[in-house]
Amino acid sequence: MRPVPQKTPIITARQASLISCHSCHLLCKPTALGSNHGLVCPRCGAKLHSRKVNSLKRTWALILAAFIFYIPANLLPITTVISLGKAQSDTIMSGVIYFIHTGMWPIALVIFVASVFVPFLKLIILTYLLITVQRRSTWRLKDRTRLYRITEAVGRWSMVDIYVVTILVALVNLGALATISAGPGAIFFAAVVVTTMFAAMSFDPRLMWDAKESLNGRIQHT
Ligand SMILES: [Zn+2]
Repeated sequence: MRPVPQKTPIITARQASLISCHSCHLLCKPTALGSNHGLVCPRCGAKLHSRKVNSLKRTWALILAAFIFYIPANLLPITTVISLGKAQSDTIMSGVIYFIHTGMWPIALVIFVASVFVPFLKLIILTYLLITVQRRSTWRLKDRTRLYRITEAVGRWSMVDIYVVTILVALVNLGALATISAGPGAIFFAAVVVTTMFAAMSFDPRLMWDAKESLNGRIQHT
């Protein structure tokens, strides 16, 4: 039988009056470094903050911007193909429908998941995390932290679509036969991906755990 590990009380860095460096993760003692303003990490020189500055406001602003960009990203054409004198503009969804009609449903599925479903899901998850932080919810904190990590990790893969359009524009230039150019939808789509990535970066997952810390504090005081 494995010995049952003893439960030790968990102290956060903030409770221990320590600040973790965002860049090199060194635990620093603010008192040893002087005043609380303009603290810098003694090892790497990065600015120290107990929590990311204005994390909630910045994340909300970026998410709202991403939601706004999401609309033209899906409504405007992402590519315009000129083939034998005929021009055809395609939005993301019309491209997906085209691939379904021509029987290439695996490609349709990849485009739908990478370009429509995942970016929208990421925005919904980040909105959900923000609301739960503001409501000071302590519900399933581990799962919510996991959800945040997945959202952050998956971000860069949404850029696949932009790469495909870029490569197509660069490669398919057959003069009078066929040319492909990027449509305005591509710019908005890139804006959605980039603003969502910044939103995920500006969100401080430690804010979720602060609710638990204050709850523990209240229990200890009573
Ligand atoms: Zn550092």
